Amino acid sequence: MPTTTPAPLQHPFDSAPAPGSAQAVMPGVLWIRLGLPFQLDHINVWAVDGGVEGWTLVDSGLGDSRTRDSWEGLFQGALGGRPIARVIATHFHPDHIGAAGWLVERTGASFAASLTEWLFACTLSAGSTPAMDRAVDRFYRRSGLDDDTLMAVLGRKNAYSRGVPTVPPTLTRLRAGDRLAIGESLWRVAGGGGHTAEPVSLHDSGRGLLISGDQILPRISPNISVWPTEPDADPLADYLDSLAAWSALPADTLVLPSHGLPFRGLHQRAAELRDHHAERLEEIAAQCAAPHTAAMVTRTLFKRPLDTHQMVFAMGEAIAHLNHLIRRGILTRHTGPDGVDLYQRA
Ligand SMILES: [Zn+2]
Repeated sequence: MPTTTPAPLQHPFDSAPAPGSAQAVMPGVLWIRLGLPFQLDHINVWAVDGGVEGWTLVDSGLGDSRTRDSWEGLFQGALGGRPIARVIATHFHPDHIGAAGWLVERTGASFAASLTEWLFACTLSAGSTPAMDRAVDRFYRRSGLDDDTLMAVLGRKNAYSRGVPTVPPTLTRLRAGDRLAIGESLWRVAGGGGHTAEPVSLHDSGRGLLISGDQILPRISPNISVWPTEPDADPLADYLDSLAAWSALPADTLVLPSHGLPFRGLHQRAAELRDHHAERLEEIAAQCAAPHTAAMVTRTLFKRPLDTHQMVFAMGEAIAHLNHLIRRGILTRHTGPDGVDLYQRA
């Protein structure tokens, strides 16, 4: 669940390209904006000029017809009719990987991502099985949601394959620490975690550029959630480690995020996000002086009314903080006679 924080960051560009168009960030790096049919109405994707081999695209947009139309316009427009050599997905979320299957089919490009993110995309786009549905059912019943909300949450259909109609069938695997030469530029694959299990970012230390995916964004706090596939996960620990790693990069790095405007102020932004989670952890630990369900914690953290979709993300985020507090030995969890989990100070 994104939350807005004041962001006194430096933005070298005060406006973004219109959806379906591009502008240069610096020679050989294009900022492309694609529209999304959500409240978050855009994604930034990046095209890096690889010289004779053609463009490397970082992220692809949602797998819908609007995105495909945008790409068709861009191929002959901003991309100058030159080949697309490679499509990279920073992570498996539909706005990032959704059009990648179509792009590689359409252009003959290779596809690169981390193994985990690609496998997640393959699994989710294949749809759910009865056993997976039962695991989802158990996960949300344990959270203590009221019956109406629980039924609405369980009634959701797997929407993943709508945004990701095809996943690229073959992978060039990226690992944290890999070096990637794109034309004259040399990029290091930076890892991390928390928002998803094994996202990749790309860092060009020569030019001080970081393509950050959703790992660090200028205005919204990336969603850090626990999902029914891994109910005891502690993604917040991974995310806090990632924030510490960003702080080791040069302070004047120009961050190219997937949403919002490029910015300088990486260290400051990492500190804001760390403080945001620290405050949440403190608030939840204080609440759990008395036993609380995950649903009670969610309602306290997110006071405004939440629709079903928002509730799923808010609940995932609340459980991420609860699991982290358990791992730190601050909270314990036990299951009551009604099958609902209760969290309490250890
Ligand atoms: Zn994402």
